[in-house]
Amino acid sequence: MHSCDSQKGLIDIKDALERLVSDAKPVVDVETIPLFEAAGRVLAESPVASVSVPPADNSSMDGYAVNTSELSETGETRLFVSQRIPAGTPPNALQKNSCARIFTGAEIPQGSDAVIMQENVTADGDYAVFTPGISVGENIRCKGQDIKEGESVLAKGVRLQPSDLGMLASVGLAEVKVYSRLKVAILSTGDELVEPGNSLASGQIFNSNRYILTGLLHGLGMEVVDLGCVADTEEATLAALSDAAIRADAILSTGGVSVGEEDHVKGCVEQLGQLNMWKMRIKPGKPVAYGHVKGTPFLGLPGNPTSTLITFCLLARPCLLGLQGAIYQAPLELPVAAGFERTREIQRQEYLRVRFEEGRVVPFKNQSSGVLASASWANGIAIVPPHTKVNKGDAIGFIPFSELLA
Ligand code: AMP
Ligand code: MG
Repeated sequence: MHSCDSQKGLIDIKDALERLVSDAKPVVDVETIPLFEAAGRVLAESPVASVSVPPADNSSMDGYAVNTSELSETGETRLFVSQRIPAGTPPNALQKNSCARIFTGAEIPQGSDAVIMQENVTADGDYAVFTPGISVGENIRCKGQDIKEGESVLAKGVRLQPSDLGMLASVGLAEVKVYSRLKVAILSTGDELVEPGNSLASGQIFNSNRYILTGLLHGLGMEVVDLGCVADTEEATLAALSDAAIRADAILSTGGVSVGEEDHVKGCVEQLGQLNMWKMRIKPGKPVAYGHVKGTPFLGLPGNPTSTLITFCLLARPCLLGLQGAIYQAPLELPVAAGFERTREIQRQEYLRVRFEEGRVVPFKNQSSGVLASASWANGIAIVPPHTKVNKGDAIGFIPFSELLA
């Protein structure tokens, strides 16, 4: 049967992903950059803390530092306030039978083992009065509770988030060693393509994929080597791919990767290197191709803009992040309730553009891979495995776009 034949030899996405991730070793240089500029970059080392955080025990409250052994367990205790310790001031050792006025973030004086919050203390001139029931260690943030001196702070291959930058700053690092930005060549195949800003003649459409890919790559902190549009000829495709292999660390193309006579990408990759995988058991995006052009990793994404977006997110993104030096991290896939019914089964794994709201996912009404509005409307994708029907309320996998677009 025709519909069955067209599904033959398709690669499971799980296998494709495994291959892509295991092939994708870091291919870029290492550079040292100011911490200020490091958001989104990939760590090329695992920095070691030369100090503990916090560097000393300090108070988590505004209050009074005491030695609990000097406090009565049954009645009130009145102690002389022998010093005042604001944050940033080095404390003196606590005098016997006294307490210290202390503020949040100030270092705990030697000889003190608890801080009592000021709301629970009665101030009386130069004295403070404490009630019983205070435990050792109360309101003290211990030295090294966050990071211990000598520990490694973050793993090599981490993509630096704002919290990571804060961690690196907290151990005093002003610079950080990261991988240089991966250079990714993009080329849009198709004689029908015209750049926005021009007018359309009969048979033409505007090039959307170039803008989708540029946005996606910038979101990953990568550099775009834009090779523009490529005519649907073998000659032009060979020339563009050869140029891309020289100028970039990885190559992405869109369109021309299917089975028509006007589709030259697959054949040209075979001529210039190897085709390692072709055609996945997914919808949209079946004709994805993976290979190497003169040694440079290559992914041929299908031309329909929604297929370009989805296959980038599912397959190109993990591959490119691996080449960039990042540790592989699968996107969060959350089980959510289906807010729809689908009685028809298909043989490929389907990625529906859906919106998660009010505890369930609803699909965009037109799921055609030519309808990019589906992706702009959606806040994520829902996964329907092959040969699966969906009833309303069934648990279904949902990946928010926020997991995929950066
Ligand atoms: P192809 O895989 O080259 O047959 O392309 C599949 C469909 O996607 C065709 O309808 C193309 O016109 C369309 N397409 C290909 N490339 C682009 C592009 N860069 N922007 C918008 N649509 C495209
Ligand atoms: Mg085409």
